[in-house]
Amino acid sequence: MTVNDQGRFQAIISHAKEYGFVFPSSEIYDGLSAVYDYGPWGSELKKNIRESWWNAMTRMHDNIVGIDAAIFMHPTTWKASGHVDNFSDPMIDNKDSKKRYRVDHLIEGAAEELSKLDKHREAEDLLRQMDEFLAANDFVGLKNLIDQYGIKCAVSGTCNWTEVRQFNLMFSTQLGSVAEDANEIYLRPETAQGIFVNFLNVQKTARMKIPFGIAQVGKAFRNEIVARQFIFRMREFEQMEMQYFIRPGSQKEWYAYWKEERMKWHTALGIPADRYRFHDHVKLAHYADAAVDIEYAFPIGWKEVEGIHSRTDFDLKNHQHFSGKKLQYFDPEINQSYVPYVIETSIGLDRMFLLVLCHAYQEEKWAKEDGSEDSRVVLKIPPAIAPIKLAVLPLLKKEGLPEIAREIMASCRNEFYCFYEEKDTIGKRYRRMDALGTPFCVTVDHQTKEDRTVTIRYRDTMKQERIPMDGLAAFIRSKF
Ligand code: ATP
Repeated sequence: MTVNDQGRFQAIISHAKEYGFVFPSSEIYDGLSAVYDYGPWGSELKKNIRESWWNAMTRMHDNIVGIDAAIFMHPTTWKASGHVDNFSDPMIDNKDSKKRYRVDHLIEGAAEELSKLDKHREAEDLLRQMDEFLAANDFVGLKNLIDQYGIKCAVSGTCNWTEVRQFNLMFSTQLGSVAEDANEIYLRPETAQGIFVNFLNVQKTARMKIPFGIAQVGKAFRNEIVARQFIFRMREFEQMEMQYFIRPGSQKEWYAYWKEERMKWHTALGIPADRYRFHDHVKLAHYADAAVDIEYAFPIGWKEVEGIHSRTDFDLKNHQHFSGKKLQYFDPEINQSYVPYVIETSIGLDRMFLLVLCHAYQEEKWAKEDGSEDSRVVLKIPPAIAPIKLAVLPLLKKEGLPEIAREIMASCRNEFYCFYEEKDTIGKRYRRMDALGTPFCVTVDHQTKEDRTVTIRYRDTMKQERIPMDGLAAFIRSKF
């Protein structure tokens, strides 16, 4: 599998639509840019990833609890968090095509083109200079870099650029019924602030002692300018974030702990470690004293899927300042009150979903015994998060076989998601289940009537074996 394989990426997007995973939003009206809907199997897969994360955080850690905060928050929240003033990206417009680009994406695109021409050193040099200018907020330097490398607009093909400017990424709307009285509020651009403003509520009511964490999953909204690459960058998306409150001075230790802990979660899902890497930030966000991305080798290149940030006491201190309320913790072990420091882990659920699809999607070909070629498209989704765990397939629609298949459905559907299918040949049904990523199929045939055994067929190896139908649910469970 190569990194940077547009053909493969397009095939995954088509597969996701054809098999009911992801649809463009309001498609009958030609869709809405960078907004997507999840179909029957997509919503199931997304739920399973969400649950895996939630359980890893809350169930597996005695000192992490969850919340579910509202999307709307008091507008001062975003002043305190720095989003009103800082949540913007340097952008540049092409005067001929009127197309707007995020400067880092424009330059990264140019570096990729250089790499394709085997000019690797030049590409690295370009990216290094970009990182330096971004870190220094040097917009003139960035503009000069674009001019110096002759970077062109993909639409107009010209280098006729405006100056580099900042654009805020938050969506705003009005709260209140009468326009004149209405307050401008924002759709949250991250879920983290819902955790910060509830820090004391949670600490007190759940009787938490530092160190402790608060986890949350929910929608976030960003008016991304360069919104392409399918669900990789959306305008409405879901985040899974956890803020870990710690004693000031212990941030290095906890930062290292969470880096390792999060990587363990990724690999425990069954995704190979060599598809992941850490990427340290050169340009730190306004709130961070250290930050690292967990990157995955997507078919469109190495890209961020999760961020781990050492956020210091930036957020709580600012909320304390803007709200006038104390947000401190009394630490009985050292007999001191302080504003806790925070390590954050932040992962995009949709991006993780895309990662799973990219890992799972395989086109396989092999020679049959008669010498002809056979092929299939299979989603090798880790069984624990597969949308359908078990397909129950009666060989025929008659002769008592559907009744036995229904009996199997009844004994398993309480345990995990099962799917009943009696249409088409068994071969076609297997192929369809491969395409949906169903790890196990059982076929009910005439022998089942005699000895209550079924044929189980394994998705990844396509191997089949005969097993008793009684105790099937426990057997399947033991496999994930
Ligand atoms: P990027 O550099 O890709 O814009 P970011 O560094 O701004 O991401 P964070 O603010 O750290 O991202 O958000 C944490 C996570 O949320 C990211 O790692 C990513 O998985 C997810 N995420 C952020 N923006 C989007 C988006 N527009 N669409 C989908 N997921 C997103």
